[in-house]
Amino acid sequence: MRDDNCIFCKIANGDIPSATLYEDEEFRVILDLGPASKGHALILPKEHYPNLYELPDELAGKAILLAKKMAVKMTKALDCDGFNVVQNNGESAGQTVFHFHMHLIPRYKNDQAGFGWNVGELSEADREDILSRVRAVN
Ligand code: 5GP
Ligand code: ZN
Repeated sequence: MRDDNCIFCKIANGDIPSATLYEDEEFRVILDLGPASKGHALILPKEHYPNLYELPDELAGKAILLAKKMAVKMTKALDCDGFNVVQNNGESAGQTVFHFHMHLIPRYKNDQAGFGWNVGELSEADREDILSRVRAVN
């Protein structure tokens, strides 16, 4: 299914042209217009699913295999030193386009891509709270 108001549906299905690195029946891989590093790309399924929660298992499996294949190919081609695979769900997690996608971000020694988090500390209370709550959900 597609969403007529979704920019990534239009790009993934070729209605809007994009710099395409790879395409098959179910996915298109394009260069990000606001790259964090040289080669930053996005894996887009051609079908519209807003996020990981709603992505069918079969497509999720294929997406991670494609991420691996692209990481190997891009690392060879671009001679990068490392690679981040990033996937955001929900506004609070930094998602800005609500069509599932995976970021492929080549990393280079001393690059300025600079995303990450402030390292916290796992308290005993949090550890117990989290373990009991997550294990209780089937
Ligand atoms: P999110 O923040 O939702 O995880 O990532 C959205 C990504 O899509 C951003 O990195 C942004 O630069 C990229 N982006 C947004 N609109 C377009 C577009 O029209 N074309 C391309 N190629 N990338 C886009
Ligand atoms: Zn869409």
